[in-house]
Amino acid sequence: MPKKRATLLAELRGILGPSGLVEDAGEMAPFLGDWWGKRQGSALAVARPDTVERVAAVVACCARAGIPIVPQGGNTGLCGGATPRPEDADCLVVALGRLRRIRAVDPYNQTITADAGCTLAEVQAAAAQADRLFPLSLGSEGSCQIGGNISTNAGGTAVLRYGTMRDLVLGIEAVLPDGTLWHGLRGLRKDNTGYDLKQLFIGAEGTLGIVTGAVLKLFPRPTSHATAWVALDTLDQAPVLLALTRSLCGERITSFEVCSRSQLNVVYRNIPDTRDPLDGEGDWVALIELADMASDAELQGLLEQAMGRALEEGMAIDAALASSQAQAQAIWRIRHAVSGANVREGYSVSHDISVPIAAVGVFVREAREALREYTQDALTLVVGHAGDGNLHFILLFPHAVWQALIPETRETRAAGITAIVQRTALALGGSISAEHGIGVAHRDELQAAKPPAELAMMRAIKHALDPRGLMNPGKLLQP
Ligand SMILES: Cc1cc2nc3c(=O)[nH]c(=O)nc-3n(C[C@H](O)[C@H](O)[C@H](O)COP(=O)(O)OP(=O)(O)OC[C@H]3O[C@@H](n4cnc5c(N)ncnc54)[C@H](O)[C@@H]3O)c2cc1C
Repeated sequence: MPKKRATLLAELRGILGPSGLVEDAGEMAPFLGDWWGKRQGSALAVARPDTVERVAAVVACCARAGIPIVPQGGNTGLCGGATPRPEDADCLVVALGRLRRIRAVDPYNQTITADAGCTLAEVQAAAAQADRLFPLSLGSEGSCQIGGNISTNAGGTAVLRYGTMRDLVLGIEAVLPDGTLWHGLRGLRKDNTGYDLKQLFIGAEGTLGIVTGAVLKLFPRPTSHATAWVALDTLDQAPVLLALTRSLCGERITSFEVCSRSQLNVVYRNIPDTRDPLDGEGDWVALIELADMASDAELQGLLEQAMGRALEEGMAIDAALASSQAQAQAIWRIRHAVSGANVREGYSVSHDISVPIAAVGVFVREAREALREYTQDALTLVVGHAGDGNLHFILLFPHAVWQALIPETRETRAAGITAIVQRTALALGGSISAEHGIGVAHRDELQAAKPPAELAMMRAIKHALDPRGLMNPGKLLQP
């Protein structure tokens, strides 16, 4: 081992203690691959600091030695941002999972202050214990961490009402690439004192520093919920149905999700104990949830009235309302089972695009048409947060078909599909990444999708905070 590396590792062992530095190849393995199992990298070691001061000391040590760092949260990211690249074998993965304290809950300011390594589910539970709601909600919430949610500006199923992570953060504490600890943990609702620096770290995907803590907004906890499963003929009905539900139910709508029938069938085939609430009616399904402080009966009545109008006016073909919490949970289980079911069924070439809400149907039609040459062997699946104009558009190939292709053909096929999907979204005024981020998966495509002036500003910010490019190199921006 070169002397420089040996000295660095000895120094890191000194900072982190015996349980804080993982050097054994077997123990490192889970930190070196991504959730999909598509990417595998290598690293010098994995640091698992248990205090903010240790994070700062580790980063300072790496900065002195010129060692790149890959910050990692729950490792549920879908764009390869938390996975070291194969060419970064001399990097250090800094995994935040041991930084896991709920620091404070302030019921008057309606805020919670948490370590970056708390899982989203832990923060939700701590808020509920104080009779408050932390509204971010993702299928991965048992594993993903607050630091990861901030760094990817996570979205999920309640954005319609509460916004993305960007809307939920009031303050951030972070270690900068040179090891400086920035104390930005302010919970102020109003603070007009110049550049809003915390926003730089939201969606930065670990390229500007390591988030170690955050002050997050809480909300009153709804006491009642109403959930509907609505069968549609076409996706064009979704924006119309959303507009009607909004005009009748107002801000009570928290979620408006859609699934294609092809996607639902993959779930039913692969996930035990899932069953279609309307026995397979509709080429498309919308899942609508209302939440409020009113009584269950009042909310249920409101949703029934809205769905009645939708059926009368031909915006939907049938609707089933959950009549118990168990039924509502069974409906949500179908929605949350999508990612796991797809992994079992085949190989996904997956996209996370957004378009103006009114254009979701046009997008799917145009993308399907443009992809005809690719879809003979594949299923076209669509699932997404249609209320935010965000669709996950997936071509799913049977494992055997995908494995039979030589690696170069797989790569060109996936790239060809992605180029068409992204071009279609951009032509409709959309985005190539709605909520999952860029990572390495979409880094090169970002160059074409963003105006040069925007890319230049992003590079200037990166250079100002990380002039040597040591923080998560090669992610988000080309090196
Ligand atoms: C089943 C499933 C469902 C999902 N559903 C959704 C969904 O509905 N909406 C959605 O938006 N996403 C979804 N995701 C994607 C993923 O869960 C989110 O992107 C999540 O926010 C990532 O958090 P993480 O802690 O796992 O981050 P990681 O995967 O560990 O990291 C993601 C990025 O953030 C950086 N990072 C992580 N922690 C820190 C830190 N403390 N400081 C600085 N940088 C850091 C990493 O370097 C990387 O670039 C889903 C994923 C799965 C597997």
